[in-house]
Amino acid sequence: MKPNPKGILIAALILLLITSVISRFIPGEEPDMPEPAEKEERDEIIILPNTQKEAVIAMYNHWEKKLVKIPLEEYLVGVVAGEMPASFELEALKAQAVAARTLAVYQMPAYGGKGCSRHAGADVCSSYAHCQDWISLDHMRKNWGQNFEGNLNKIQHAVQETKGQIMTYEGKPIEVFYHSTSNGKTEEVSEVFSNSLPYYTTVDSTGEENAPMYEGSVTLKNSEFADKFHSRYGIRLDPNNLASQIQINSYTGSGRIREITVGGKRLRATEFRLLYGLNSTDITFIFGKDTITMKTKGFGHGVGMSQSGANYMAKQGYSYKDILLHYYRGVEIDHY
Ligand SMILES: [Zn+2]
Repeated sequence: MKPNPKGILIAALILLLITSVISRFIPGEEPDMPEPAEKEERDEIIILPNTQKEAVIAMYNHWEKKLVKIPLEEYLVGVVAGEMPASFELEALKAQAVAARTLAVYQMPAYGGKGCSRHAGADVCSSYAHCQDWISLDHMRKNWGQNFEGNLNKIQHAVQETKGQIMTYEGKPIEVFYHSTSNGKTEEVSEVFSNSLPYYTTVDSTGEENAPMYEGSVTLKNSEFADKFHSRYGIRLDPNNLASQIQINSYTGSGRIREITVGGKRLRATEFRLLYGLNSTDITFIFGKDTITMKTKGFGHGVGMSQSGANYMAKQGYSYKDILLHYYRGVEIDHY
């Protein structure tokens, strides 16, 4: 029998159509999607088209006083190692990795950022007092001794398992603040920094009472306290009567002091804290005969994620996404 070319062509076309329809329903053809979180829909990771996963960051290395370029994910290992104890729970380290990545991406001009304001040409600097902490492998080796490999492995894990993930609000990377330990509540951002941001509000941060930095205390001789105040503001306090010269004017919603009057001078508590090197603005004054003691609760400005609080949440079984969505309200976990 002579084959009919037209018939073969039609048959082939039908076969092609069937295969293409079937292949759309074959499982495993979808790109690798991370497991959606159980809690809420907003936890779901949206993978955005991303051509810059291997982004490189320009970091001013303040230890060596030079500008270096490092792959972003590698840079983050140094940040997490510098910013959070390696002994913390993996989920807390992962939350730290996402927070650190968000801060970096927020500053990178490639993503609309303005870079580090202190060092021309740098996206970030390695100073914890300015951008965020970063330490080298040698530094880690020195810090950790024989735990070096185990700790490094754990931190690399935290970075890799959150690769490319940042927090966004209305599609843009958020401005990230985090701190060591809270006083039980986080601080409203506008109480510390000038701007107000919708994703920062006072939230409870429980379980930190046993954190090593929860309680702090600075004791000075009355005369030392007065001298320090004089050298900064040019106002002489009577060292024999400090109690009557220090008044607390107002507290923030998180129980920290907002404003204080010392020797007739009204000050923001954040400024007062810096002058006396206090751990936080949750301050209780104890007036002795010759000394003044300033007891503090928490460590840091109190805005955003508390690292000790994150570790406590992780110990209770919360995931890094739960932790981030607790401290940064209304954000999404996206990819940069
Ligand atoms: Zn900087």
